[in-house]
Amino acid sequence: MSTDVEEKLRALRDQYARRLPDKIATFAAKWAAACDHPDDPAPFRQLLRELHTLAGSGASFGFPAISRLARLAEQSLQQQLDTPAGLASPARQAEVAELLERLAEAAQAAGAAESGTADGPAPHAIHLQIADPDERAQLAHQLELYGHEVRTFEHLAAMAESEAIPALRVVELASPGATEALSRIGSLRRQDEDCPLIVIAGDADIAARLQAVRLGAAAFFPRPVDTDRFIDTVDKLLHLRAQDPFRILIVDDDHPAADLYAGTLRQAGMLTRVVTHPDDVLEQMREFNPELVLLDLNLPGCHGTELAAVIRQCEAHVSTPIVFLSAERDIAYQLETIRQGGDDLLIKPIAAAHLVSAVQGRAARYRLLRSFMVRDSLTGLYNHASTKELLQRELARARRNGTLLSFAMLDLDHFKRINDAHGHALGDAVLRLLARTLRQRLRATDIVGRHGGEEFAVILPECTAENARKVIDGIRERFARLAIPAGEDTLHVHFSAGIAAYPEWDTDYQLSEQADRALYAAKAAGRNRVMISTARTAP
Ligand code: GH3
Ligand code: MG
Ligand code: MG
Repeated sequence: MSTDVEEKLRALRDQYARRLPDKIATFAAKWAAACDHPDDPAPFRQLLRELHTLAGSGASFGFPAISRLARLAEQSLQQQLDTPAGLASPARQAEVAELLERLAEAAQAAGAAESGTADGPAPHAIHLQIADPDERAQLAHQLELYGHEVRTFEHLAAMAESEAIPALRVVELASPGATEALSRIGSLRRQDEDCPLIVIAGDADIAARLQAVRLGAAAFFPRPVDTDRFIDTVDKLLHLRAQDPFRILIVDDDHPAADLYAGTLRQAGMLTRVVTHPDDVLEQMREFNPELVLLDLNLPGCHGTELAAVIRQCEAHVSTPIVFLSAERDIAYQLETIRQGGDDLLIKPIAAAHLVSAVQGRAARYRLLRSFMVRDSLTGLYNHASTKELLQRELARARRNGTLLSFAMLDLDHFKRINDAHGHALGDAVLRLLARTLRQRLRATDIVGRHGGEEFAVILPECTAENARKVIDGIRERFARLAIPAGEDTLHVHFSAGIAAYPEWDTDYQLSEQADRALYAAKAAGRNRVMISTARTAP
């Protein structure tokens, strides 16, 4: 990209960031006005559309936090609109109000960051310290291949002196005796606790691993570094910082206590909902889809363990963590209680820090485990079944809101030859590379799935077939230009794609069938191209 274009883009982004706070202030005002007349859904729908647009534009301009919060607010509002009497429910109103408040904060932060650091270092740079020049260059090259900006350092001292705060640090653990280096890493960590640390070491023994843990490392890599796993870990750690808040359901008939827990967890960045009567629990489980339930043992009409058993009998909640709250201090009783379907038991009164860490740790583990079920293990993308489900959901949403949607199918060209010539492992690496390229180049609201083998599917909400073609074609061009290291050689791989759009095609079945047909046509026409299936071109 020429610097001229880059500058223009940056100016646009600046302008967008500056206008964000005002724009979000109007949301709050519109929301308040809408709540004054909960019987009239029209102002809510209007706000819903605006939030949807913000989710898209936030992602396009590189403000993922704004995009995520807008999407959460959109989803919450949508749920309210979908449930009878939903708009009048104070609990839901509080949820949307809170998300709007957080959006306002994020917008302020975006605006401030924009004016302050226009010429500063890229906020997402990775600082990498390795003494060996070859190893350093090789890891930096890999990171750059996956779109990360990297600053390299030979020595820890230089890294410690760097003023810029990186998004992530990678350091090597020199020989176990290098205490000076260790204390340097320790002081780096104290400067900026938020910045995750990856440690690389020559030894994989427990002593080295323990040292890494004591330094606060989020991950440990013995040499030789498994680059695929390394890049995956980097991606995961960087996403972790802007992930969706955990959803926690609190069941306690003691109002002040429930509100206190909710407030504490919200301050720690989680999303909470309070239920004070057991009758409402299942409905809230279904709707709010919590990632952890805090369940008081003393409830009106039933015991907490009984309610836990009821929750566990629903297939969808079999593995949702349940943490009991109790005022009972007897250890035997506590153990017996946990045996009856709880994952943990917290004794009231609970210190805020203890509550947050108990909840956060379990919710994070649960989210990770669930992601294994809905995601493809090789690429981390949605698997076939979830992509199909998401297409149905997005299509229903497009229908409801009267918006557009495009669906694209991608298939690598002559992929069998690549496997045959360079081995399956390299084939797998190419699949991961395409997965990452897609994730990086598309909007946060677009959905990317691995349809099977070397086929990928992309759902682009609010996008015409022609725009989808442009976007996918841009990715195609870029991907085809990537020089993929394959032993001594480098390799170029390309893909073909087919696109079908709603409302021209109006069921999920038709969309897949027509995208597939267009893909087939692209293959037949010589591969390495993108085609659209329109009603006229389809036989
Ligand atoms: P075309 O351009 O017509 O799509 O040719 P192609 O060779 O890509 O198509 P074909 O469907 O004949 O072959 C697909 C190949 O993709 C077969 C298989 O070796 C490879 N493949 C499928 N899944 C995986 C995978 O998970 N890993 C690797 N490495 N290869 C895979
Ligand atoms: Mg195929
Ligand atoms: Mg193929």
